[in-house]
Amino acid sequence: MSQRHRRLIARYQVRPGRRFRLADCDPADAGGRDFAPLGPGTVKERAQAFLEASRTELARAQQLLWASDTQSVLIVLQAMDAAGKDGTIKHVMSGVNPQGCEVHGFRRPSEIELDHNFLWRYWDKVPERGRIGIFNRSYYEEVLVVKVHPEILAAQRLPGRAGGRKFWEARYDDINRFERHLVRNGTVILKFFLNVSRAEQRRRLLERIEARDKHWKFSAADLAERAYWREYMAAYQEMLRQTSTRWAPWYVIPADRKYVARAAIAAIVSGTIGGLGLQYPTLSGAAERELAAARRRLRAGR
Ligand code: ATP
Ligand code: MG
Repeated sequence: MSQRHRRLIARYQVRPGRRFRLADCDPADAGGRDFAPLGPGTVKERAQAFLEASRTELARAQQLLWASDTQSVLIVLQAMDAAGKDGTIKHVMSGVNPQGCEVHGFRRPSEIELDHNFLWRYWDKVPERGRIGIFNRSYYEEVLVVKVHPEILAAQRLPGRAGGRKFWEARYDDINRFERHLVRNGTVILKFFLNVSRAEQRRRLLERIEARDKHWKFSAADLAERAYWREYMAAYQEMLRQTSTRWAPWYVIPADRKYVARAAIAAIVSGTIGGLGLQYPTLSGAAERELAAARRRLRAGR
């Protein structure tokens, strides 16, 4: 693991079991010394160079992940609207082989999904061995939007009293155990909360209204959710405290500067996969002999 990767982890990871306050995380953080304008170039240029380097590393790491076919990587992205989830996916994954990568977005559950337990619809979307899977929103909505809006919880028709302190503790526990199961069986989980400030969200939503080519991105629902900012931040903080575990830690990524968010995530993903110690598969004796025979045949011009 490189020093840079270690520094980023130390800077953004929510340490399991340690005291944590979301208010201590600055959405406008500029990445510290890795992105600081020490030499020539601004923070933005340095972050972009950093992103470029991480993308190259990520492409290499993904190829190894695919070839070794023993582990998979699940990337979970959570954020308020307009924090930049879509752009992050586009920029971070732009260099990887599309065959080894998949993105799943999750919206309001259907009637059928509501008739099942809350983790059901995520199960078969978990990436298979050798692949990187991205969840654009995830089962964490179950302790975010569902917690902020009790009527959504009511629609789940759960037995007993749903919605109290014990209920949410059990839900965090279910999620932790689900992830534990995945990790034990070869899935590496990386969870990113894109931490955008309320002021920056306002600016971005306004831009969507004012720029013609961004109108399609605007949704009145975003304004409705924005009105619950305080409730969301409380739900996020509790989620981060309860579900940042040794086996599946959360990273709180500053998202007011898109280039910082993208560069930090690319570096953490590529560094983590690079640090898995994956190897290209080695051939058995028989396969080696087959290869040698094939070489002789081709060399002989047959
Ligand atoms: P974008 O706005 O960039 O297109 P998005 O992820 O915000 O992407 P939307 O279709 O706007 O997608 O919103 C999806 C909505 O579905 C969000 O408001 C989210 O909270 C909600 N949602 C996701 N999962 C659940 C869930 N399990 N229960 C209830 N609502 C959910
Ligand atoms: Mg939206």
